[in-house]
Amino acid sequence: MMKSLKIGLIGTGYMGKAHAIAYRNAMAAFGIPHDQLECEMLAEVDEDLAKQKAREFGFKRATGDWKALVQDPDVDLVDICAPNFLHKEMALAAIAAGKHVYSEKPLALNAEDAKEMTQAAEQAGVKTSVGFNYIKNPTLQFAKELIDRGDIGEPVHFRGVFNEDYLADASLPFSWRLQQEYAGSGALNDLASHLVNLAIHLVAPITSVCADLKVVYKLRPLAGDSQKTGQVENDDQAHMMVRFANGAQGTLEASRIAWGRKNGLSFEITGTKGSLVFDQETLSELSLFMAGDDPQTQGFKRILVGPEHPDYQAFCVSAGHGLGFNDIKAVEVRDLYEGIVNNKPLWPDFRAATQVNIILDKVVESHANNAWVDVEQYDGEHK
Ligand code: NAD
Repeated sequence: MMKSLKIGLIGTGYMGKAHAIAYRNAMAAFGIPHDQLECEMLAEVDEDLAKQKAREFGFKRATGDWKALVQDPDVDLVDICAPNFLHKEMALAAIAAGKHVYSEKPLALNAEDAKEMTQAAEQAGVKTSVGFNYIKNPTLQFAKELIDRGDIGEPVHFRGVFNEDYLADASLPFSWRLQQEYAGSGALNDLASHLVNLAIHLVAPITSVCADLKVVYKLRPLAGDSQKTGQVENDDQAHMMVRFANGAQGTLEASRIAWGRKNGLSFEITGTKGSLVFDQETLSELSLFMAGDDPQTQGFKRILVGPEHPDYQAFCVSAGHGLGFNDIKAVEVRDLYEGIVNNKPLWPDFRAATQVNIILDKVVESHANNAWVDVEQYDGEHK
């Protein structure tokens, strides 16, 4: 059995920093000894930046060449926090070198690439994990428990929204996120991917989709030369109706231009015996309505998550104090560690993330054909 897990982190931007924080937090919160989860090596676009970030994040070594990190004999796990278009090349190289892989979402630009990555990982027998972090929140772990034990009956409807305003200002410059070659789809790949993964986890597999996508701001000024513009190639807004395998219906929407929404992931699940409501902007609260309650005092109950709920106590012994985004990343890292070092089930892995990519491709197809499209359930065969 592997006694320690040595991390090689690629990319130190928004998510790279969140992962670096999560390794430290996971050790402190979950009692993982520091000699069992080691921040071994870090890669960035150039050596100076890599060295600077290694000092800040507490990694032992740094390189300006991610391929050197992947090949390094002292790296057990390659953690990919680079832009979407690099995930495939980096993951395939890591898998070929026999490394476990932790990739940020979306796993790939499209389902074909995701299948290739999954097949490679499964053939090599390495473990994989994908950063669909929101489902690691103790609040949503508890929501899943409530649903699984039947407290709200059989889910019949899922209404999910993931709106942010990071591109709401039309004068914000053109970037890799707006080009299909580098990002794939837009709000769909970036935001709705989380929502799709979450809906599958909480309700059931998605079996068909009917979608509408829109690029609202078609041109953006080029960074460094605002007189010139770049053509936006992917959706600012994504809407879809979905059908679930258990017969439930759903509506999912995502926007990157929704003024005022900062981490606006929210959902409402209606069951035959009650409802659940969640808003990521108040991530340690869950609202529960139970049809069986006394009609006179019936209403949505506001549950503040505390030590009685999954994983909360690792961070705080007092209820209602609330966790944050970086805490749920630490839960993700704890699962990663347990999955690799103690061979526990690891989810969502590349296979689960491939199912998300399959659905996102079907959303694009549905929009193009103006029609409902059936969704295949991934069987692991790469065609
Ligand atoms: P970012 O631009 O902030 O950071 C990307 C980093 O990768 C940069 O530091 C960049 O220098 C580095 N990089 C680029 N090319 C590289 C190369 N060839 N070698 C080494 N480093 C390289 O981007 P981000 O927002 O951190 O996004 C990274 C990934 O994380 C994306 O796939 C994105 O979808 C995902 N993401 C996930 C969440 C989440 O909630 N799970 C949130 C935001 C972003």
